[in-house]
Amino acid sequence: MIEAPTSMDRSLLQQSVAPLARQAEVMPAQDVVRLACERFGRNVALSSSFGAEDMVLIDMLMRADANGRIVTLDTGRLPQETYNVMDAAREKYGVTIEVLFPQAEAVQSMVAEHGLNLFYHSVEFRKMCCGVRKMEPLKRALAGLDAWITGLRRDQSVTRTAVHKVEWDEGNQLIKLNPLVDWTHEDVWKYIREHNVPYNALHDRGYPSIGCGPCTRAVQPGEHERAGRWWWEHPETKECGLHVSQSTDATVQGPSS
Ligand code: SF4
Repeated sequence: MIEAPTSMDRSLLQQSVAPLARQAEVMPAQDVVRLACERFGRNVALSSSFGAEDMVLIDMLMRADANGRIVTLDTGRLPQETYNVMDAAREKYGVTIEVLFPQAEAVQSMVAEHGLNLFYHSVEFRKMCCGVRKMEPLKRALAGLDAWITGLRRDQSVTRTAVHKVEWDEGNQLIKLNPLVDWTHEDVWKYIREHNVPYNALHDRGYPSIGCGPCTRAVQPGEHERAGRWWWEHPETKECGLHVSQSTDATVQGPSS
């Protein structure tokens, strides 16, 4: 059950982004996570889809604050392997994972009108499904928070090259922290192996990036790591809306190492 923290005034919060970004830009990822916990306490949460990056961040969060908050969205279309790694994290770290579900009536109405596999029919329908199953629950997950932590990396896709370590999330009116923004795929897996972090079994079957079951497939050697996400669409449309950039200039243009 999500608590209702007392959040900061939004304009004060937004003013704090630039100094926080300057501070965080030169920090390693673990220190950014620790800083977020110290600064925001129960008003920051890690939004996790339990992919490799998110597992790294769960491990870092638990090292920084054993009571750190983890929220996730159960779209109703996740692969079994994702539920398995959720439970593995729960058992390893003894953490309560806050799972949010879409509104049942909205899902029922959508599938009654457009079918269960509407996402294959058009980008518009795919975004509708992501809106109902992801965006609306995310809004509820972020309500009342001052900041959220994500596993975005700049080199994941053409839609993520401008992401910063700390940014103002205009759409959700809170601070967004992306501690792994300058990490590579190899950095992520080095951390997982060195720290014995549990991970989704699909990663060993050719899935570098994992979302909903019907919208994710394995990639071929040499393909981009997000090529298996909504593989029938052009790369420029491949975001579900959770991370569409709406940040303002109150961010630091840090080194993109
Ligand atoms: S990823 Fe696919 S199944 Fe999941 S919410 Fe988006 S369109 Fe729907």
